[in-house]
Amino acid sequence: MTRRVLMIFWDGVGYGKKDAATNPFFTAHLPTFTTLFDGEIPSLRDQKIYTKKAGVVPVNTTFGMKGLPQSGTGQAAIFTGVNASKIVGQHFGPYPHSSLHSTIREKNLFTQLHQRGKKTYFANAYPQRYFDYLAAHKARTPVVALSSISAQQPLHDHIELAAGKAISADITGTRWNEFGHQDVHPVSAAEAGRRFYELSRAVDFILFEYFLTDYSGHSKNMETAVDTLERMDGFLSGILEHFDEATDTVLFISDHGNIEDLSVKSHTRNPTPLIVVGNQREYFTSHIHKLYHVTPAIISFLT
Ligand SMILES: [Zn+2]
Repeated sequence: MTRRVLMIFWDGVGYGKKDAATNPFFTAHLPTFTTLFDGEIPSLRDQKIYTKKAGVVPVNTTFGMKGLPQSGTGQAAIFTGVNASKIVGQHFGPYPHSSLHSTIREKNLFTQLHQRGKKTYFANAYPQRYFDYLAAHKARTPVVALSSISAQQPLHDHIELAAGKAISADITGTRWNEFGHQDVHPVSAAEAGRRFYELSRAVDFILFEYFLTDYSGHSKNMETAVDTLERMDGFLSGILEHFDEATDTVLFISDHGNIEDLSVKSHTRNPTPLIVVGNQREYFTSHIHKLYHVTPAIISFLT
């Protein structure tokens, strides 16, 4: 029986207050998440929830350092397994600090899994204008993209997205015509989730990166934030349609809080919820307490 990990990295998601005025988790319609947690939504008050289908536990994002956690160091910690903020001497972002580039290139999760004979897939697709941007601003390559490229996994483009071999960063792919790609047609969030699950069948580890959660948090806009969370709920419903609890694990992790508190524009120091779906949830919820535990936990689980 081959084990598989389907990981969703959503940027800027922490535990918030049970307050529908500031926390979109308590405003949005999230039938898939609520069903997994027997009608509950994780919050600062209810951080640990275990049900027959899923588990959620808090993960520290600050490492005892002052200041607000940032994406460069938080993501480097998640995707390499090192305490990146300590190496840099502060939380740093949104791009990886230059002192972390070689660590990300050599120790990223994809490369470490390849070295152990495992197959991986980074599902996101990028429009041509983003490839142009990266070509002109190499130092601004975000952690996940840099990890994938360093592991000889080139980023997917509009052609692969149109062919159903990738997922749009916004899940549904509504803006690709604006980006100049008429070949990409929008899909429902559930359809994107079913596609993500199908793509996972050929590999041991698949990743989708969702940045809209952080974007929505910075916007402080409830309508945007609700739409962002409802898309993810639909995506998860599609993943779970053919999900095999015995072999498959879905794992959600974030780099820092943000969207859970729309009363502030900035990131938060709130812990982030590690959400795990599948029969192996106990393993992950008992091994991951800090962001830099994610990579070693996935590697030992799969090898
Ligand atoms: Zn941010």
